[in-house]
Amino acid sequence: HFDVLTAHLPAETGNRNFVLSFSDLTELRKVEQMRADFAADAGHELRTPLSVLLGFIETLEGPAKDDPDALGQFLPVMRDQAQRMQSLVEDLLSLARIELNEHTPPSNDCDVSTIIDKVAMALKVKADAKNMDIRVTTNLENTHTIGEEKELIQVFQNLIENAIKYGHQDSTVDVKIDLAKNPPAALARYRHSRIMSVSVCDQSDGIAREHLPRLTERFYRVDTARSRAVGGTGLGLAIVKHLVQRHRGTMTIESEVGKGSVFTVYLPARTGDNVHKLHRA
Ligand code: ADP
Repeated sequence: HFDVLTAHLPAETGNRNFVLSFSDLTELRKVEQMRADFAADAGHELRTPLSVLLGFIETLEGPAKDDPDALGQFLPVMRDQAQRMQSLVEDLLSLARIELNEHTPPSNDCDVSTIIDKVAMALKVKADAKNMDIRVTTNLENTHTIGEEKELIQVFQNLIENAIKYGHQDSTVDVKIDLAKNPPAALARYRHSRIMSVSVCDQSDGIAREHLPRLTERFYRVDTARSRAVGGTGLGLAIVKHLVQRHRGTMTIESEVGKGSVFTVYLPARTGDNVHKLHRA
């Protein structure tokens, strides 16, 4: 297998005198398999709206050529399919870009509270359409972290948008910014710094336990038809997971069927002059 394996070795190894264990080999095969699956899934996701679009074009060129109403009827559906393809391509490009940068942590100062307010404002129209409220509560005086504002906006936009999409009509999306009292074990290496938690809680049908570990996989959907109907690409949470990892954070998902879900993002807080005082409102 040596010929195959050299192709994966980093250039700096010189591709020579490199010993690979069986576990490396298994790991490489797994990565190869995941890439192949991903390409197949992406192709499949794009093929569906493309076939629908081509079908309409053929009908407009053929049987419906002389029907004056056909174009007006078909155009909205064609636009939906084209928009679906556009979202998919944008999400795929986003994922590819994030993967490239994943191991270079961001270095700018960001205020998470300001970011949440911006996202809540941008999503107000969508919430209003379902008569939903987005309620933001901040229990921290200083909500700064080291990050990339655009990327953190993408994280919370995805989570809050999902809470609106899957949340019940007339319900409330609760976003809470707090100091993490019991940060997940994955962040144990930051035990000397403060960890901020941002929870997005929805009131919805919830998600059955068996789906929770797989939600951040690319193209994984609990209910494919429903998720497509609400305009999902199935890539949102995969993007969120990678972006949070780039910010040296982690995310947990809890859900109760019939009640709702809580997506919590943990991020190392910017300690600086140790100005983080818990504000007890
Ligand atoms: P999508 O674009 O389909 O929403 P995501 O990656 O954002 O894709 O989410 C993956 C799947 O996880 C969704 O299809 C949906 O089944 C489920 N999901 C995500 N967020 C929620 C939520 N707040 N409540 C219920 N289900 C959710």
